[in-house]
Amino acid sequence: MGKLAAFEMHAVKEPLRRVEREVAPPAAGNVVVRVAGCGVCHTDVSFWHDGVRTRHALPLVLGHEISGVVEDASRDAEHLRGQAVIVPAVIPCGRCDACRDGRGNICPKQIFPGNDIHGGFATHVEVPAHGLCVVPGFTGDADAPLARSGVSLRELSVLADAISTPWQSITRSGLRAGDVAVFVGAGGVGGFGVQLAAALGARVAALDVDDGRLAAVREHGAACAVNVRGKSAKDVRKELSAWAASAGAPATRWKIFETSGTAAGQETAFALLNHGAYLGIVGFTMDTVSVRLSNLMAFDARAEGTWGCVPDLYPSALDLCLDGRVRIAPFVERHPLASVNDVLAAAVRHELKRRPVLVP
Ligand SMILES: [Zn+2]
Ligand SMILES: [Zn+2]
Repeated sequence: MGKLAAFEMHAVKEPLRRVEREVAPPAAGNVVVRVAGCGVCHTDVSFWHDGVRTRHALPLVLGHEISGVVEDASRDAEHLRGQAVIVPAVIPCGRCDACRDGRGNICPKQIFPGNDIHGGFATHVEVPAHGLCVVPGFTGDADAPLARSGVSLRELSVLADAISTPWQSITRSGLRAGDVAVFVGAGGVGGFGVQLAAALGARVAALDVDDGRLAAVREHGAACAVNVRGKSAKDVRKELSAWAASAGAPATRWKIFETSGTAAGQETAFALLNHGAYLGIVGFTMDTVSVRLSNLMAFDARAEGTWGCVPDLYPSALDLCLDGRVRIAPFVERHPLASVNDVLAAAVRHELKRRPVLVP
């Protein structure tokens, strides 16, 4: 089948090393995907720069936002050969108690590419066949527009995490048309969250400290965009309440999504709770915050985390991307796979305006 090229992490902060090896036939139940695109996530940066341990020993190929084409399949997965697919960032086993209860995203045997197995900073990756999300309408060209929206298979890679992760949180919140949805953080994950919520007919507010990001989400679904730099949580709450009142939107039961992964964002998100509110913790930080949990009691509110996304929810998110209600192109930037070390360094320096997608 020829050779693959991959970029392996050997040690924290050390440049990833390019390696070549033969593409092996996939093990039973697996497929080999020729990578079309692989998004670069904050989690990759945490492994590479911050020393967060990968579950698989190093050296390891990072990358868990993968789209591509099934180039080889084990006998039990032949039906997938030639199909365009999204590889979920969290691939449940499909058979354990958690999986049978619909909680596959916390399956103890889950496989997370670029963490449990080699990931997508490569030309090819071997992954389990079950859980793959098939992309309809693929004509064989990873750059060609798919369906009405004009999105390409390469760009769809970010569905595997940046889109599916807020989608699971939004789905769990029970968000409905007319509800207020607030995204605290309008970066990679929050920017897509805004669009997903708007696609469901919610009235969406976005908070961030970056005017560029706020301008982007204002064009793509946010009815209200607030730069919170230098503002107290109380002031932000007043400003959002005034907006909701003027827009004729509900003053209670807000669905609040913390997508900044910062302590300041978490404090702001918690301060926005109102009666019957839902707080989805989507972003991650190692920092701790001090909050009065009894506010949940007093407001009869719910706070819930979210890890990954069950494969069952991928097709509905994919539909929103294919029909153009969620636009990917304005929120991603392409980089050659060979520049992965430069991209990681730029991510550490917070220099990237959009989510990077590595293209082999
Ligand atoms: Zn990720
Ligand atoms: Zn399982």
